Amino acid sequence: MQIVTLIPGDGIGPEITDSVVKILKAADAQIEWDIQTAGADVAEVEGTALPQRVIDSIKKNKIALKAPVTTPIGKGFRSVNVALRKELDLYANLRPCKNIEGIKTRFDNVDLVIVRENTEDLYAGIERQIDDDTAESIKIITRKASERIAKFAFDYAVKNKRKTVTAVTKANICKLTDGLFLNCAREVAQNYPEIKYNEVLVDNLCMQLVQNPEKYDVLVLPNLYGDIVSDLCAGLIGGLGIAKGANIGIDTAVFEPVHGSAPDIKGQNKANPTALLLSAIDLLKYINQNQVAKKIENALYKTLKDGKILTYDLGGNALCSEFTNEIINNI
Ligand code: ATP
Repeated sequence: MQIVTLIPGDGIGPEITDSVVKILKAADAQIEWDIQTAGADVAEVEGTALPQRVIDSIKKNKIALKAPVTTPIGKGFRSVNVALRKELDLYANLRPCKNIEGIKTRFDNVDLVIVRENTEDLYAGIERQIDDDTAESIKIITRKASERIAKFAFDYAVKNKRKTVTAVTKANICKLTDGLFLNCAREVAQNYPEIKYNEVLVDNLCMQLVQNPEKYDVLVLPNLYGDIVSDLCAGLIGGLGIAKGANIGIDTAVFEPVHGSAPDIKGQNKANPTALLLSAIDLLKYINQNQVAKKIENALYKTLKDGKILTYDLGGNALCSEFTNEIINNI
């Protein structure tokens, strides 16, 4: 039995967590959940949205499944997601993005992987109000973080038999910060002669992605560009409801979907649990429960391919619980 920290999050988090826990149980996953609440409701009771017990639990278990936690705009507590990544030094945000059979999109040949730097850039949160009409934010890029994310991207490419790594920046404008990121990627690339190395500016990448996404393989990006391009790529394969992800550190991994807490559909039993489920399937593979992972993957893919019971975001009208039951039936 593997003990795994489970953060049900807020917004649609608890609904999709409930779905995923039921599916993993039906597939007989050997997991004992260490449930740790975090977010706005917790802040009201415990004075912080990210209590130390959550961090301690992940530090102890070294692995977690995390549903989304709301990040309020402009006020309130610091982002739980950002704080968690920094506290645990989960320096790599890995977001594989591949078409799924049965989900119709404009493209049917998307198979790329986003490797997003997870600890610095504008997410350092160093901002100040200079006067009533002026505010500034500091973008931090370091050699240490840039080298290790580039190395992570190339190691991932080698391990997963990928051919090309593309570094994405705006180094023509942010000459020092993105320039440093790019130099680090170039230097690291020299140690991987078997992997092709490319560079592209982020604006050009966005245009290329919506025209020829099949041209891209592994992308390595600083934090903010990685965030934005992740949502774009989720759109290429059918939307946020199916986009999975993982935050990886030296000996710790937190699996979580790309999407946020979607407060607009909270509590309506209509959210798509697929992104969290795919993240949980990757978690199962990470802890070597490969057979269970495959069993769930097959049941999920069958449900999506059949196309009869789908959530609203995929063009269906099934509730989250109906979609969940269909996957369990297919197991
Ligand atoms: P954050 O800033 O926290 O990442 P966001 O602004 O990217 O959040 P999300 O909450 O990720 O916003 O989602 C944007 C919209 O996409 C939601 O409002 C919702 O309508 C839709 N959406 C996101 N996730 C799902 C899901 N799992 N199932 C169905 N619809 C979803």
